[in-house]
Amino acid sequence: MKHTQIIADSFPALHQTIGDNRLVYLDSAATTQKPQCVIDAIVAYYEHDNANIHRGVHTLSQRATQAYENARLQIANLLHCSRHEEVIFVRGATEAINLIAQAYARPRLGEGDVILITEMEHHSNIVPWQLVCEQTGASLEVVPVCDDGSLDMEAYKSLLTKDVVIVSMAHVSNAIGTINPVKEICKLAREVGATTVVDGAQATGHLRVDISDIDCDFYAISGHKMFGPTGIGCLFGKYELLQEMEPWQGGGDMILSVSFEETTWNDVPFKFEAGTPNIAGAIGLGVAVSWIQEIGYDKISKHEQELLAYGREVLLAIDGVDIVGASKHNAGVIAFTLRGVHPHDVGTILDHAGVAIRTGNHCAEPLMKRFGLAATCRASLCIYNTRKDLDCLGVGIKEAMRILG
Ligand code: PMP
Repeated sequence: MKHTQIIADSFPALHQTIGDNRLVYLDSAATTQKPQCVIDAIVAYYEHDNANIHRGVHTLSQRATQAYENARLQIANLLHCSRHEEVIFVRGATEAINLIAQAYARPRLGEGDVILITEMEHHSNIVPWQLVCEQTGASLEVVPVCDDGSLDMEAYKSLLTKDVVIVSMAHVSNAIGTINPVKEICKLAREVGATTVVDGAQATGHLRVDISDIDCDFYAISGHKMFGPTGIGCLFGKYELLQEMEPWQGGGDMILSVSFEETTWNDVPFKFEAGTPNIAGAIGLGVAVSWIQEIGYDKISKHEQELLAYGREVLLAIDGVDIVGASKHNAGVIAFTLRGVHPHDVGTILDHAGVAIRTGNHCAEPLMKRFGLAATCRASLCIYNTRKDLDCLGVGIKEAMRILG
């Protein structure tokens, strides 16, 4: 725990009060706080190296290009990609999935084809596929979730017919924290010839991700959920697939040459990075990656699992609290409801106590419906949280019960 305090000390935003209370930040699934080194890197870039990348011969441009490309190498290294060109910078996981849907799926799908997703997806892994279905005549099918929040693997196997062209699923559910067996899901999908997409938005800040081992075709990453800045993320794609694909957006940097008669595309990954990218964001994300590597995923996961067990204990000891979805393989997300109390009211009372949780449908309306709920409360855990934070949550919930229950 002492070491956790040292870690927490490197997050300036955690050191503030809300009213008279210490901030207890339990909303890292929405976005993680940023360590000082990430903030410093962004400031340093704008103070010293600010220039556009890939096209300048001057020193600042070369420095900016090097830092941006170095971030790509760091991400490829973190995720065990076989080549760094497989990492494309995008705005976030949402943009990564839209890129796959439009640049990979749309030209390849037609009537009779099936895109298979799961009942626990974030809207970002539902709506891009609905758009593609409308555009191509393909249809969307959904693997159900069991009562404990795990994926119904038997149902998955029976839905996995030869018509399935794409299987897209969350690595970790943002709403209930289920860790899906993505390696097995991808292996089964490959057996029917389907292309696999993993939404890793909630994974890379919390658990070791080895893309070569998972052997998925695409993997979407959200920078701001892994200690990096907002507005930056990555799409991993297998090199051969990225090479086969047409660009998604046109503009600067994604071309080799342009004439009014014919335009030719730049190499992967630049083919998919039209326009001036979020240079500072990528650099900040690279530093976040170094920070994660310094702590190590073993330590992060172990700490979060201990907190998860303790948090469930704290909540279950309170009369009137129900935990929603608690699968055997769960990341540090605790979804819960208070009998007879609206989650938004719980969130407001907790905020008065300095405790930040998320309430609502968590951009997972179909999953809420599956559990017969309109909304839940969600406490999401991170390496910088402590047992004390969960004690504060418990005290706040008891207070909410006293006032509203
Ligand atoms: N998928 C999941 C599981 C998420 O939790 C989120 C963010 N809440 C997203 C996708 C979207 O990520 P981003 O904010 O990077 O677009």
